[in-house]
Amino acid sequence: MHVVKINPGREKSALHRHPWLFSGAMNPPAGTPGSGETVRVLDTNGRFLGWAAWSGESQIRLRFWSFDERETIDRDFFRRRLSRAIELRSGMDHASNAMRLVNGESDGLPGLIVDRYGEVLVMQLLAAGPESWRDVLCDELQALTGVQAIYERSDADVRELEGLPLRSGLLRGELPAVTDIIEHGLRYRVNVAAGQKTGFYLDQRANRHRIGSLANGADVLNCFCYTGGFSLAALRGGARSVLSVDSSGDALDAARVNLSLNDLPSERATWMEADVFQYLRRLRDEGRSYDLIVLDPPKFAPTAQHVERASRAYKDINLWAMKLLRTGGHLATFTCSGGMTAELFQKVVAGSAWDVRADMRLIERFTADIDHPVSLNFPEGDYLKGLLLRKV
Ligand code: SAH
Repeated sequence: MHVVKINPGREKSALHRHPWLFSGAMNPPAGTPGSGETVRVLDTNGRFLGWAAWSGESQIRLRFWSFDERETIDRDFFRRRLSRAIELRSGMDHASNAMRLVNGESDGLPGLIVDRYGEVLVMQLLAAGPESWRDVLCDELQALTGVQAIYERSDADVRELEGLPLRSGLLRGELPAVTDIIEHGLRYRVNVAAGQKTGFYLDQRANRHRIGSLANGADVLNCFCYTGGFSLAALRGGARSVLSVDSSGDALDAARVNLSLNDLPSERATWMEADVFQYLRRLRDEGRSYDLIVLDPPKFAPTAQHVERASRAYKDINLWAMKLLRTGGHLATFTCSGGMTAELFQKVVAGSAWDVRADMRLIERFTADIDHPVSLNFPEGDYLKGLLLRKV
């Protein structure tokens, strides 16, 4: 087994059980470990720090599996970690037959995401470590959940930073003709093979439900609507009208299907394929206004380096949304950017309000739903942040 020694002073994060160590924290070990190989990590004095997966091509060179010297990283280890993740969620009242079963670093399984959609598991292997344990992970997931169908969606760009090819396809079992989930009583059809991420944004479940409760009698604008999650929740909540905007025609087609699967007043829904940045300006030119606006854009700042440009983008859409908001109306605004802290996001949104002289009150904060627990040793896991604002 390869041994990796960490440079003096660079072991601190590992002592606090942060799961990552960057390439600059170590000298190359004697001999090169294979991609994803488990290595023994020591501090400069030879003191044991942990067992980690080696990612030779990535800036995140080591991801810790365990900080316990007695532990062996083998099939039993993965069974224990997977069952701990599943156990943590058992009995959770999340009002759906879909949930995130494994949330990567926060479940002690860096680089591994598993979402369950009814009788289908969708797996993302985002780093060299879990990549090298693919078969074991499949075996143990099948055994622990009883679900036979496992679909791989390792087609996220971050794989390229690991030097891993993008890959997706069926790994085990068979996919049913359709994969429908029920969330808070609403039916959504999930395209696990071609949808975004693993097919659906499970993290927004509770927030969709909350927004539904604010929608009675409201004219609603849902920006970045994807397959209509917030739109359907608003219609069910009694919205008078819901205008939903997304740049993806495929997402809008799926949204229309989702609407048809539910007993909702479809004549109140309008779907618009457009770029939100331009479209908000157009709505303003047309003199339109709304009681409830949702802004749930994609990651504008995947890492801290993109924060400045991302801040401008967040400021822009929030500013236009505030102009379109009626007095007394609600704005639910989100960021899912890892590089954007909650403090900075609130500051950016405050800047938008200042620019348009809108008097906004912070009513609530949003996070990801309860099946996305965040390890306190891994604050980066707290990526979804939202503000519910009211215009006075
Ligand atoms: N709120 C959704 C998830 C939104 S994901 C839910 O609850 O399911 C972000 C969406 O933004 C994606 O559907 C993507 O297609 C869309 N998108 C990205 N850039 C866009 C742009 N400039 N204008 C409009 N939509 C955009």
